[in-house]
Amino acid sequence: MIADVAVPVPLGRPFSYEVPASLLTLVSPGMRVLCPFGPRKTLGVVLDVSDREPTFDRSKLRPIAAVVDLEPVLPPELLAFLRELASYYLAPIGEVLRMALPALERTQVRAIKEHDHEGKSLKGRKVGGREITMVKLRKELAAEPHPPGIKLRGRAVEVLEYLLACPETSIPRLEQRWKGARAAVKRLAALGLVDLTRREVPSSPFFADPVDRDVPPALNSFQERATEALRDALASGLARSFLLFGVTGSGKTEVYLRAIASCLAAGKGALVLVPEIALTPQLVGRFRARFGDDVAVIHSGLKESERHLMWQRLRSGAVQVAIGARSALFAPVQKLGLIVVDEEHDGSFKQEEGARYHARDMALLRAYRAGAVAVLGSATPSLESEMLCRQGKLTRLELPERAHATALLPKVELVDLKRVGPGPSGHPLLSLPLHRAIEQTLAANEQTILFLNRRGFAPSVICEGCGTIVRCGSCSVALTFHRRQGLVCHYCDFHCALPDQCPECRGKLALEGLGTEKLEAAVAAAFPSARVARLDRDVASGAKAEQVIERVRSGEVDILVGTQMVTKGHDLPRVTLVGVINADASLSMPDFRAAERGFQLLVQVAGRAGRSDRPGTVLIQTRDPENPAIVFAAKHDVRGFVAREMVDREEGPYPPFARLAMIRLDGVEERQTQEVAQAVADVARRAKTPQAEQVDVLGPVAPPLARLRGRFRFQVLLRSKERPPLRACLHALMPHLDRLGGKVRIVIDVDPVQMM
Ligand code: ADP
Ligand code: ZN
Repeated sequence: MIADVAVPVPLGRPFSYEVPASLLTLVSPGMRVLCPFGPRKTLGVVLDVSDREPTFDRSKLRPIAAVVDLEPVLPPELLAFLRELASYYLAPIGEVLRMALPALERTQVRAIKEHDHEGKSLKGRKVGGREITMVKLRKELAAEPHPPGIKLRGRAVEVLEYLLACPETSIPRLEQRWKGARAAVKRLAALGLVDLTRREVPSSPFFADPVDRDVPPALNSFQERATEALRDALASGLARSFLLFGVTGSGKTEVYLRAIASCLAAGKGALVLVPEIALTPQLVGRFRARFGDDVAVIHSGLKESERHLMWQRLRSGAVQVAIGARSALFAPVQKLGLIVVDEEHDGSFKQEEGARYHARDMALLRAYRAGAVAVLGSATPSLESEMLCRQGKLTRLELPERAHATALLPKVELVDLKRVGPGPSGHPLLSLPLHRAIEQTLAANEQTILFLNRRGFAPSVICEGCGTIVRCGSCSVALTFHRRQGLVCHYCDFHCALPDQCPECRGKLALEGLGTEKLEAAVAAAFPSARVARLDRDVASGAKAEQVIERVRSGEVDILVGTQMVTKGHDLPRVTLVGVINADASLSMPDFRAAERGFQLLVQVAGRAGRSDRPGTVLIQTRDPENPAIVFAAKHDVRGFVAREMVDREEGPYPPFARLAMIRLDGVEERQTQEVAQAVADVARRAKTPQAEQVDVLGPVAPPLARLRGRFRFQVLLRSKERPPLRACLHALMPHLDRLGGKVRIVIDVDPVQMM
């Protein structure tokens, strides 16, 4: 027998190995095996086992050294999906599998290598978190809370009453409320009123706080309709895909939760993908409150051992719900019934290195192949998803109103910076209307969010004498001045102290523009009595960001200044004013998606205002108040924007009316890199496939970010109306790339998102 094995090297094809007789009954597709590879041994994944004749001399075939798993670590559904993903993106199969597999703990690999014990399987070490005691009210007591003949006093009465409202909780959770809760629970248990069970809680920030089980709210009629459509689709057992288009705060998450519940009730598993930045303990808490702590949270901060444990619990079916950012797409959820992609328009679903897959697109593929239901949710759907709706590939479900009956969409006002002058602070980007609005919000004891998409103090440093802008030595960007680190490059790790004079002419250097640090300082100076906080990547990441948000939620902050991090998903009921400091920044990027992205950003940030019973106001400052993205965002008119933008895209044509593949090249020498790029473009133009004339070859061009980390960059863009000609062209090109490349790195990016 011969096994085709994918090994983790950047080569497209799998390698063939002989299956020794002793392992014949043990090897099957999806298992990890140890194989000789050159002078070493490497871990690979079996793709196929067959008795076909090898295409080369059988005596050259080397045998598999050992089998790592007792059963396939990749179930057939996942393995088939990964192979299809690799083929779609023309990515090496070994690299794709590596993304999907938990790293085998190094000690284990060493153990196999040292002992070479053939066929001996290794069970993952059990890596646990801490144990807590769960408290559950006896079912029969819910009807008759005070059984006759039992007298309770003090704490025990309070705990019992709490349990009547919330029938399942944990001792740590109760201890948060009442110091002596543990003793009270013991008494209730001794009386047979509650059941106690021990359970393990993962040691992760997402599980640090115990949460109570919630009581699902009554759905409004729109949620009801969407939930029913999903329930029917899940019951039908057919692979169906939906776009849940719901305004900010419309209760999309509740619809997801109901769909997951239907899925679990049918004995199937569910996968939820959210943007990296939205994956917070608060969000995960909503899932834990509904489904308990048997929720796998997959994120980049996981230690290898934790990832391994998570993997095993999903793979074994012990846990049926997985939630995570992009890479959770590969979670080995058993009997996959549902995939949710929340904020499907978010750019972070596209992986920008290695295998450059798009998790939203691939979620549709995985669901389809698995016969599962897919739900893409957004308040600002991508044009790609909009197109799939028009083509009937996605069914549209709508939540046109905010979930709380009293919460209306905020009133949006434009401030034309060309006409309106600065407020009392004198800063041109703190206009008079914005200043007044902040004052009023402070007076009403409500909160303000100010959004500015630039971190640091000043985005550039310029010489007053010769006009030189201080640039990064390795990247073609200006250095940003940060108060603490000095000059920083936002693209590489470079930083240095602010020079005291111009490196060119020894003239005086001046700080230019406005970043979040400076805005924070300006706001604090303009409103001395206000409590100001900042949220961007410099002050916070992950759990720290959650702490800042928590301070806002608990009312310790009056004005929050921040970047994109303030726009995502947070439910902050006391925020009634949102100020967009400069709406033009993101709209002026040289990228065909700039308008779409700018529009989405404005609608999302506006969505932070007035989410409960207090009406919200949004002030958008701009120098271009007629810009369609701004005009439509101000009217909350998503359909209007999409309709207009579709016309522009069709004219291009750009996606979703065309298919793109970007060939990215980078090298240390500019001329050489450009020559290789030219050669690649020439080969693509000459590629004689039957369909080649349907492919436009654009470039090579140097992108705006022409130099990055000391390497010069060039791009060749392939475009065609349909996918097959583009694929044919790429396949014709592929065999030439190694020869052409040499010292220049060449990467193919199918369906590119990052255009610069
Ligand atoms: P979205 O994800 O669409 O932005 P959320 O799911 O965060 O909206 O919901 C916004 C708020 O409305 C949340 O506080 C949520 O608990 C609440 N909510 C959702 N559905 C309902 C409902 N049917 N009744 C009452 N409150 C609801
Ligand atoms: Zn740099």
